[in-house]
Amino acid sequence: MTPTGDRHVAWIGLGSNLDAPAAQLRRAFAELAADHNLQVLARSSLYRSVPVGGPPDQPLFCNAAAALATGLSPLALLDRLQAIEAAHGRVRDVRWGPRTLDLDILAIDALVMDCPRLTLPHPRAHERGFVLVPLAEIAPALSLGGGQRVIDRCRAVDTRDIEPWESRV
Ligand code: AMP
Repeated sequence: MTPTGDRHVAWIGLGSNLDAPAAQLRRAFAELAADHNLQVLARSSLYRSVPVGGPPDQPLFCNAAAALATGLSPLALLDRLQAIEAAHGRVRDVRWGPRTLDLDILAIDALVMDCPRLTLPHPRAHERGFVLVPLAEIAPALSLGGGQRVIDRCRAVDTRDIEPWESRV
């Protein structure tokens, strides 16, 4: 997928482990699709993952990934995603703690940036199975920096705790 004109392709990671996580993600997909500044090019299916870091005994996560085309600048896109998080009642108190909705920008085209609000590619995406498994469904050949493709990173990290969301329902 390549950007057209001054549009970018942004790769987004979605996660939730509070208040009906799968419904949170389905609602987030609908909100992204309804935003006239964004076009949803692809979306993965939903996965269930064991929390990494954060407080013990927090609920399992629901994760997914999406590709968006947008003319927004990277920071304007971050603003938009954070507004959607806020509309889902997201409160930032405990680092890596439970959350109603987390929207991370995994990459925007091949852009590299490091400013106080935004680091691209996302600095931890390449080592997290819960990011890589959904992303591999829609962008197996994408590089998140470091030269390796998403599909290769997927084989390099532990993905045993990541299952299709419906598998145990
Ligand atoms: P979190 O609480 O894990 O959602 O982290 C959100 C914080 O990380 C916000 O303050 C963002 O400004 C910052 N941040 C830095 N890089 C990124 C990125 N690639 N995607 C989303 N948030 C980012």
